[in-house]
Amino acid sequence: MAMQRLEAELEPGSLASQLGVDLLGVADLTPAQPFILAQCEKALRSQESAQFLTTFPRALSLGIHISDALVERLPDNRQEPRNLSPYIFHIYNVVNPTLEAASLRLTRWLQGHSFKALPLPASSPWNRQELVAIFSHKLAAHLSGLGWIGKNSLLITPHYGPRVRWITVLTDAPLETGTPLHKKCGRCRECVEVCPAAAFTGIEFDPSDPREARYDAAKCSLYLLGDAGSASSSSHVCGLCIAACPVGKPSYRKV
Ligand code: SF4
Ligand code: SF4
Repeated sequence: MAMQRLEAELEPGSLASQLGVDLLGVADLTPAQPFILAQCEKALRSQESAQFLTTFPRALSLGIHISDALVERLPDNRQEPRNLSPYIFHIYNVVNPTLEAASLRLTRWLQGHSFKALPLPASSPWNRQELVAIFSHKLAAHLSGLGWIGKNSLLITPHYGPRVRWITVLTDAPLETGTPLHKKCGRCRECVEVCPAAAFTGIEFDPSDPREARYDAAKCSLYLLGDAGSASSSSHVCGLCIAACPVGKPSYRKV
């Protein structure tokens, strides 16, 4: 009975709006535990901390749709890095803190129902050179059934494309989990063609492939750090692979 009440309260639409997020899903992390362990070990260089993460069998994935107007301006604003300030402010001073606040509320709610809950920080590269975070929020969102991994290695949601920021709360609550979506990019190569660092190979996501098969993070990182000598070098922001994706464009969006 308590479980039924929990499932009802966790009905994604109603809980998402209570938490002030646009997307919410539940992931079964079991099939991805070796990947989670390896990534966390790489980021933290600590086997013990990595193993602690794998003691949580499920994850709640929360997403906020970022401003279309700011994303649409990215291709123009990269010519003048100062113009990127509103985008950077929106992502790091508005959306990320809102995600953190939502994950805190969710954590307290899960703990109030006597479940374990571990909130993970919103994305900022832990290892700047390799752009490796301690946990992949997009993996949790993918396993929740909220989108597929695109050729740009981002999570592509059917409604907002890659224009979503994510956060994750790990838990042991025995909730019903989503089913991952697979390979919806088809013949599109917009993100591959637009990338100024040529960081994408254009290969579709396959869970058995390493990330390097699709995406060279070092090329992107070097470009963002300015080694490519680009106009956007001082901003550490590019985002062309987000702006180019047709799936996230308002004209594409299904209402
Ligand atoms: S952020 Fe820019 S440089 Fe990096 S992968 Fe995307 S398009 Fe390429
Ligand atoms: S731009 Fe095209 S290929 Fe790239 S992620 Fe979006 S749909 Fe997939």
